[in-house]
Parts: sequence; structure tokens; C-alpha cells
Amino acid sequence: MTTAADTLLITNIGSLVTNDPTVGEGPLGLVRDAAVVIEGERIAWAGPATAAPAADTAYDADGRAVIPGFVDSHSHLVFAGDRTEEFNARMSGRPYSAGGIRTTVAATRAATDAELEANLTRYLREALRQGTTTFETKSGYGLTVEDEARALRIASAHTDEVTYLGAHIVPPDYADDPAAYVALVTGDMLDACAPHARWIDVFCEKGAFDGDQARTILTAGKAKGLHPRIHANQLSYGPGVQLAVELDAASADHCTHLTDEDVDALANSSTVATLLPGAEFSTRAEWPNARRLLDAGATVALSTDCNPGSSFTSSVPFCIALAVRDMGMTPDEALWSATAGGAAALRRTDIGRITRGAYADLALLDAPSHVHLAYRPGVPLVSAVWRRGLREV
Ligand SMILES: [Zn+2]
Repeated sequence: MTTAADTLLITNIGSLVTNDPTVGEGPLGLVRDAAVVIEGERIAWAGPATAAPAADTAYDADGRAVIPGFVDSHSHLVFAGDRTEEFNARMSGRPYSAGGIRTTVAATRAATDAELEANLTRYLREALRQGTTTFETKSGYGLTVEDEARALRIASAHTDEVTYLGAHIVPPDYADDPAAYVALVTGDMLDACAPHARWIDVFCEKGAFDGDQARTILTAGKAKGLHPRIHANQLSYGPGVQLAVELDAASADHCTHLTDEDVDALANSSTVATLLPGAEFSTRAEWPNARRLLDAGATVALSTDCNPGSSFTSSVPFCIALAVRDMGMTPDEALWSATAGGAAALRRTDIGRITRGAYADLALLDAPSHVHLAYRPGVPLVSAVWRRGLREV
């Protein structure tokens, strides 16, 4: 264990992304021939190696790149079951619909706590190996009072960024009476879940919850101290983005089908547009247009949406490569969105940057520059990860 008094100097960094424009060049705050000093779980110093203060121990980065650990602000990792066949069928031409979630709901309800915990831990470890040091995760595969509260309890042992998504779909047992399900989600289920969550989310989409239902659910959550975020405008145009802005949601997630009014609303708000290209990849859908959002002045985050149905990847580097190749983002923008952008989507300033006082969450790439994350797609470039000052990979 590192104690609070220990300091570590990471030096001979060829290219350091700080996301602090006061420390280095451009929006990424890029510093060449750089060093970082970690003290306990925080960054104590970052800047040119020649100016670095002394530390108890040193690590030689050998000219490679160091970036902030990825902030994956959207995942669904408390689940059981397998949907390989659904993916296989879809890739053979059957269109995606929200109904596939029901398969995971049945398996998750049948799983023991230990099974859910083991599955979650496995995917967290997988994400950490790929440089993710902060993740948000959601309930939404229980859809009963007990099963939703259980999912959040399990998740909250692993992250502070826990989201109540009782309004993922209307479960089959309420198919004939969706209003009764909304009453449950805003009533007993909310009461049981609120103590274990920071956020409340709704899948606002045709076949899931409409704008009025979503407003009712998110407003009830706010009254219980939860802050809103929304699955919005993924499969079709709809009210999700406007509702996100109206309710000051931290994030509108997906944003694949946006009108000019939606783009303007995001650009003039503090709601982050979180793009999740793993979902479009895995459903062979139209890409979200990151360029349009960035040019309008919106804040964009990039996350995995890791879930067993529509985006079964835990890899932020993969999402960066897709965003650069197909969504009009530059490599610099994609890296920012996957680190500082994710932090903004979680309304955090203590993560997603390598600057004095932030958590010492950083990844060493086996590459001279962060640009290689898009330039060398599919290559496991993350070679070391520190989380809260501890070497984890
Ligand atoms: Zn999602």
C-alpha cells in the first residue's frame, strides 16, 4: 500500500496529456518531455521533466505517452446471461429493438448476488486493463423493487457513479399497464433505490418511455436527491434531448438523431452530449455526428455503453478509434471527450485531468503519442495504469 506521505515521480514522458490548458499546449494541455509527481492518491505536480521536484521513487516512462485515465460515464455492467445469439442474428439482418433487454432481465433476476458481483468485477478488470479508471454503471436489468435495489447495492461497492435506471423498459409483467410501472418506478422502487444511487436515468425512446413519462420519472428522482441523465435520441428523433436540457441533466446519452433545435439546446446548456459509438457499431446503425455538435459548441463525451445487448465492449480506445474514423472527431477531441468530457458528464473536476489536486488516475501508452489510440485501432496500447496513485496494471 502507498501511504499518503509517499511520492512517485513518473519521468521521461515523451508526451503528456494533462487536459489543463494552463500547463501545456492546446485544449489537451500537452507537455512534451514531461513528468508527473503523485503524492498518495492525488497529483502533486505535472510539467516539464527538467523542472520536476524530487520524489521518494521514480518510474521511467521511456519516452512514451501518458494520458488521464479514461472516464467511462455510461455502462450497464450489473447483469447476467448471454446474448451472443441475438448479436449473431442481428448481424445476419434482423433489426435491433428495445425488446432484447428482456432476455437480460430474466437472467439477471435469476442470478445470485455472487454471480452478479463476479460478472461486474470481471468487466471492471477488463476495462481497467484498457485504461478506464472511473466508470459509471446503471441498474435496469432487475425491474422489480428488490432486483433494482440489489443491482445498485452491488454497483455502489465498486463506484460512486451509480445510476438508477428502473425506467429501462416496461417489464413484461406490466406490459398491459405501463402507467402502473411508472408509478412503481417513482414510488416504492425509487424509495428503495435512492439511498444507493447518485443519478437517475430513463430510456426515452419509442418502445420504452415517452417524454411525459420520462419527465415524471426524472422529476420524482430529483425530489429524492438524484440527479438526472437520459438515454436520448438513440434510435429515432424524440423529446429526450430537450427534456435533458429542461431538467439540467448532466448528460444526454446517444444523441444519434438530432434536429438543429436539439443541437442548439445542447450547445446552450450545461448538459453534455455523450456519444456511444459502440452501440452504432454493434447494431450497424447510423453514427452520431460529433462534428456537428462540436462545431455548434456543445460539450461532447465519449463512452462505451458497455452492455450485453447493444454494445458489448468495455474498450474506450475502440470507441476513440470509431469516433475519429467515422464521427468527424480529431484524435485530440476524441481523447479529450473520453477523459475530461466523461468527467464533465459526471460533473466532476477531480478526474479526467492530470493536474495538481486531481486524483492520480493515469495510463501509460506503449506509444509516443495519444494519437496512436486511433492510428493503431485494436492494438492493446495501454501498458500501465495508476488509479488513485496505486499501480493497478
Ligand atoms: Zn445505455
